[in-house]
Amino acid sequence: MGTKGKAIVGVDVDKLLNMLNKAYADEWLAYYQYWVGSQVACGRMRGIVAGELMEHANEELQHAQMLTERIITLGGTPLLTPQDLLKETNCGYDAPKDPNTKTLLKQNIKGEQCAIETYRKLLDFVKDKDPITYRIVLEILEDEVEHEEDLESLLSDMS
Ligand code: FE
Ligand code: FE
Ligand code: MG
Repeated sequence: MGTKGKAIVGVDVDKLLNMLNKAYADEWLAYYQYWVGSQVACGRMRGIVAGELMEHANEELQHAQMLTERIITLGGTPLLTPQDLLKETNCGYDAPKDPNTKTLLKQNIKGEQCAIETYRKLLDFVKDKDPITYRIVLEILEDEVEHEEDLESLLSDMS
């Protein structure tokens, strides 16, 4: 990264890179959990739920893109192996072994709640210290809050 661009970052850059890479791991696993969930979904409101899961999958992939751009700009390297994604994740991976739409929604709501918590912490870490990362994380957090709401609404439509 450019010398001055790095100098204006007021937090420990290695610590920040570690947090960004952990969030990056979460995004890839969320992407896959949504994507494969969308493929196998069955039961009530299958078409609507599968469509929403696929939309979220694409948005999680965008988040991974936004994080990796910041990681590289800060002089880091995004995690390079699937093994590292599983090792570094905060929120884990919940395989959609039960493809029932209601179960899928509940699993993914849990994932979104973990994501919201993760980005809340990242936002606190960079607040007033790194406005560029702050803006990126805030944008992602807004999406995660919307994701949670979308899934909770679908779940309540079912009961
Ligand atoms: Fe995300
Ligand atoms: Fe999300
Ligand atoms: Mg949505």
